Amino acid sequence: MEILEHSGLPLRCVDAINSLLPALAGQRLDEETQKLANVTGVADAFARYLCDKDSGVALVVLQERLATLNSGGMDVEKLTATVRTKLDESASLFDVDPSLLPDPDELLEEALDQLADFTEMMHDESRAIPTELVAENGRLKMQVDDLVKQTTIDVLTGTANRAFFDRRLKQMVHQCRRSEVQMGIAVVDIDHFKNVNDTYGHQAGDHILQQVARALDGVTRADETLARYGGEEFVVLLEDIATEGMAIVGERIRSKIEALDISFEGTAIPISVSVGLCCGIPQDGEYGSKLFSHADAALYEAKQNGRN
Ligand code: GH3
Ligand code: MG
Ligand code: MG
Repeated sequence: MEILEHSGLPLRCVDAINSLLPALAGQRLDEETQKLANVTGVADAFARYLCDKDSGVALVVLQERLATLNSGGMDVEKLTATVRTKLDESASLFDVDPSLLPDPDELLEEALDQLADFTEMMHDESRAIPTELVAENGRLKMQVDDLVKQTTIDVLTGTANRAFFDRRLKQMVHQCRRSEVQMGIAVVDIDHFKNVNDTYGHQAGDHILQQVARALDGVTRADETLARYGGEEFVVLLEDIATEGMAIVGERIRSKIEALDISFEGTAIPISVSVGLCCGIPQDGEYGSKLFSHADAALYEAKQNGRN
């Protein structure tokens, strides 16, 4: 503040920065200065997001401050892309190697990873909550939950999305590798789904995706992770399971979907799925993608051998 007051900046700028200090927060600012304070607040939050180790918490604060700008629909990803462009411009201006700057996509990924870890920590009452991270506990927790939900749930079906699945897969590989326990993946793909869209329309297709997601949710246990991997493909992640168990899960899924009574606007639409399965004890950190590609290959074989 000493430096600021002698900086020769217009008083309004000094006030705006001043208002960010906790001791002075809450003081009334005139409208123009408040606007400036909000912009400065976003800049400050963004700097923390780029530089702090706790980018997850910084992301929540950034999200919150963005809302004060009231600019209608400005989101973190958009802002990050804009900042990236401006950073590159500035880098060339100052002859800085742009590759030395943080990559926004990686940063977002890392921040979301942290958020997922925080929520898990907060849900797990047996572990101590790091108070310095969750200082304003209730408020922050709700925002973290919201943000995690927005970024981990598939909008159409309400199941977990691919990003969530990828994180969960990584975690499970570590866990199962450490405890030498088998883990398994089931890849579930709707048969001839393109035909369904072509014949009954895209809306019917969407309806079916929702029904299939609900049915899959019904046959998977609470400790199994179900996610929409993309398009008409779902994945189930299972822990502590061997080949026989996987076969039972696969058949349970197949028969459940075959027996579904799906109709759209009065027309019955029979559906089936093919399932690719693989399980094993993780040997290395990359085991998740190996397991997945084996399950995918098995799915391809099921498609070749008549589907369903
Ligand atoms: P296969 O039995 O070999 O899996 O054939 P398929 O037709 O199911 O597979 P293909 O990959 O050729 O087509 C998948 C279709 O899924 C194409 C695409 O239009 C549709 N699809 C993907 N996402 C959505 C979605 O969100 N909604 C709807 N309605 N359709 C989707
Ligand atoms: Mg398909
Ligand atoms: Mg497919």
